[in-house]
Amino acid sequence: MKNIKYFGWRDNVKKDAHVVWRTNRYCNYACSYCWPGAHQNKKDFLDEDTYLVAIDHIIRQYKNNGFKNISWSWAGGEVTFNPHYLTILDEIQSYDDVFSMSTLVTNLSQSLKWWEKFVKCTKKFKKVRINGSWHKEYLVTDKQQELFKQKLVFLKNNGVSSNASCVMLPGELQQMIKLRDFFDEEEISVSIKPCRAGGLIIEGYSEEEINFFKQQVKHRQNGLVTIDFNNNKKWYTSAEQLQTEDINFLGWNCTAGYSSITINPDGTVTRGTVCKQEVLGNIKEGFTIFKNPTPCITDKYCNCNSDLLLPKWRRDGYNMSKMG
Ligand code: SF4
Ligand code: SF4
Repeated sequence: MKNIKYFGWRDNVKKDAHVVWRTNRYCNYACSYCWPGAHQNKKDFLDEDTYLVAIDHIIRQYKNNGFKNISWSWAGGEVTFNPHYLTILDEIQSYDDVFSMSTLVTNLSQSLKWWEKFVKCTKKFKKVRINGSWHKEYLVTDKQQELFKQKLVFLKNNGVSSNASCVMLPGELQQMIKLRDFFDEEEISVSIKPCRAGGLIIEGYSEEEINFFKQQVKHRQNGLVTIDFNNNKKWYTSAEQLQTEDINFLGWNCTAGYSSITINPDGTVTRGTVCKQEVLGNIKEGFTIFKNPTPCITDKYCNCNSDLLLPKWRRDGYNMSKMG
């Protein structure tokens, strides 16, 4: 990281705003490797009006900051079990003066009927992306595995960019290669992620397995770029390719809090996920989005995928006005 002066996605840096919305911790699964704070079996949904008023505030504040494209990323728990989720999507698509994009991380356990409704509630979005998380403890039989793939194919055939992802434990490389081939038949990309504990990758992976995480993901375009002091660019298809690097951006200018916010299940609005100590407010009482990119004050690995993708640059090494 020493020679790098810019890090993040490169498209429309000055035009695209982002919302990472963790709507609930409730999940219908209880995967053994899931972080305890990431899921619970108790329902923790907020009331529908709180969500709908929040959407209006977000869109208004981003528009005041000059953004017209808003990308919404949904994560849980399992978002699709939030009873207000389809209404939230329908509300967002009713704003016809902004371009909306949506990315959902889901275990895909809702029925095909539910996914048909999802397609209707996202019809007016400019782009819709689904990241289906493959949880092997709940996908044991051939029928369950085929149905999972069938749902991704259904979504793909309805204009949704459909991908799969899976956490690989040490020793599972051959299993993951098989899984990649299983989806390859339908030209669906698969991101393989390392397992983490306390923010760090757990021990026990072989060199071959670490290199596997760094491979380009098939069927996916480059989206993440690093620029060094000699202006050389290096492109990546997924943030997972950098998950094994030492990535700390303390003191860099970062767009978290300015063109991106994170909403947590209790309604707190923060800059990002790793930098959740920087609170911008709450969707129940109000929140204020930054007016400019602001220095990172978090002396930790910026290792959450959604935080990692946000544009950030050394304060002495890059000029924001040069960004496209
Ligand atoms: S489906 Fe996702 S959120 Fe739910 S328990 Fe499994 S890993 Fe955790
Ligand atoms: S920790 Fe937050 S502020 Fe710091 S670089 Fe990562 S996303 Fe940006």
